[in-house]
Amino acid sequence: HAKDCHRGTAICFAPEHEAQLRSHAVIEQALRSADLETEFSLVYQPIVDVAEDRVDAYEALARWTSPTIGTVSPGDFIVVAERSGLILDVTRALLRRALADMATWPAEVRLSFNLSAHDIASSACRADIMEIVRQSGIAPGRIIFELTETGLMRDLVDGRDALTELKALGVGLALDDFGTGYSSLSYVHKLPITKLKIDRSFVTNICEDTASLNVIRAIIDLCRNLGFDCVVEGVETVEQMLLLRSAGCRFMQGYLLQKPLPRDEIEALGGSRLPVASKPVRQLQPAI
Ligand code: C2E
Ligand code: MG
Ligand code: MG
Ligand code: MG
Repeated sequence: HAKDCHRGTAICFAPEHEAQLRSHAVIEQALRSADLETEFSLVYQPIVDVAEDRVDAYEALARWTSPTIGTVSPGDFIVVAERSGLILDVTRALLRRALADMATWPAEVRLSFNLSAHDIASSACRADIMEIVRQSGIAPGRIIFELTETGLMRDLVDGRDALTELKALGVGLALDDFGTGYSSLSYVHKLPITKLKIDRSFVTNICEDTASLNVIRAIIDLCRNLGFDCVVEGVETVEQMLLLRSAGCRFMQGYLLQKPLPRDEIEALGGSRLPVASKPVRQLQPAI
């Protein structure tokens, strides 16, 4: 099994071994001994401004291939990193790398970087993050930190103060996976955020279900009223994209527009101009 399955130098395990191999304890052990510089990489997925036909930002997404347990998805290793306290080391290493990667990007293209609520929980950790930003020489206005709703909700008051401190640096702040937590609408205006990212679960069946589209419309409206940017995640089909555009959605992200790609591949695609895979945005303008 493992013999026929080569993905780069990664080792692929037979599915029956996977559950056991990927238990939290095993992931944690591999993470403790991981070389963050060589085993971790970043891929970038554009957030596309469909009104202006350009890339507004690239979101950095972490990838990990361990020499002992193979490729582990961020959905699995981020949780383990948070629980074990290793997340800060991962965050620091990846943030440094993403900011270094940005050096060759056009100045109008921003970086969207996922932070864990754990990363901003202590003032010492926030200071580290801010210091990394300062040392990079990248203008803070070109950086957006994404935090998930669920993570922030664990302690709203502290979370708010932590965000306020980060924001003072001049970075943008996005509430990620919006709509998957609870009581969102009752607190969202109290957070010092600049952007909402509507979770992809709302997009999945907008073509069949008008209620989902109405929810997205309502959130877009809310964002307009509160002065937030609004991004819809998980756009996979041309039909979804056209429907979202007619609902007033300006910023989109998803496999239709571009899958996450390594740094050299996004550079080859030409910076802020739309990548090849997003051609449908331009080609499928509704006929007038
Ligand atoms: P996220 O920040 O909400 O990122 C979006 C996830 O959806 C990514 O999964 C992306 O590859 C995937 N995606 C993008 N477009 C589509 C689409 O059209 N259809 C579908 N089905 N999926 C799409 P990924 O890379 O596996 O990351 C999962 C989550 O792990 C992220 O969700 C984020 O919360 C977390 N994560 C990833 N990298 C980091 C990191 O460096 N630090 C932290 N703290 N969390 C990270
Ligand atoms: Mg994100
Ligand atoms: Mg998201
Ligand atoms: Mg998500």
